[in-house]
Amino acid sequence: MGQNPATEHRRSNKSPEIRTAPVEVWRSRFPWAVAGMTLRTPGVQRPNFGLFTRLPAVEAMEAWGALLDDVGARAAVHSRQVHADSVAVHGREERPGNGLSITGAGDGHVTDRTGVLLTVTVADCVPVFVLDPERRAIALLHAGWRGAAAGIVERGLSELKTTYGSAPRDCWLHLGTSICGSCYEVGPEVLHAFGLPPAPTVDLRRVLASKAESAGIPPGQVTMDADCTLCGQNRYFSHRGGDPGRQVAFLMVRDPA
Ligand SMILES: [Zn+2]
Repeated sequence: MGQNPATEHRRSNKSPEIRTAPVEVWRSRFPWAVAGMTLRTPGVQRPNFGLFTRLPAVEAMEAWGALLDDVGARAAVHSRQVHADSVAVHGREERPGNGLSITGAGDGHVTDRTGVLLTVTVADCVPVFVLDPERRAIALLHAGWRGAAAGIVERGLSELKTTYGSAPRDCWLHLGTSICGSCYEVGPEVLHAFGLPPAPTVDLRRVLASKAESAGIPPGQVTMDADCTLCGQNRYFSHRGGDPGRQVAFLMVRDPA
């Protein structure tokens, strides 16, 4: 293999420790998929995955490398997120090299390729995990209120349908850890965007769940975490809590055994 043991040793010493939490409701049901989120080291801005922040990029690249090792991914795709509804399809003709590939601006990824980790970064926004067990096609979306209002969930589902023939009734959708409905204080424009009556806060996961169901996913196939990035137990970064750090949400179809 020609690997230099000294280099390996140095790398393992420098690699940040990565801890992840799986999407528990999917773990035994869909063993062919890897779905989860990274956890924060409590009290510090680590691990740092920020590629588009002022945090040191070298640190971020080491964290991404450690994440890929941890989940057993050959390659990962990520975008500069812009709170819109653009979704990138990573088809079989696309051959990202090993390691992390950054695609253009966008807030979602769709694929049926194995061993390629779809990723979005979040710190209060909602990571939206979607899979079609029939066709083993997946989507991972980043949804803040602007993206939700722009139709990122509907767009992700429509890309799955167009590209892989995945009907919404065959899809399962999970809303990951994000800011909760008690903590997410918003202005009237946000409630207006969702056609909701005036209120001091909004539960974005509930809004997204109802959009998913309206798009045709059976309610029994829509689930959500209860954890909150802001009032949780300091396990996550929170943008509103003043953290520059982000967690990575990830979704992958495993390589065949
Ligand atoms: Zn909360």
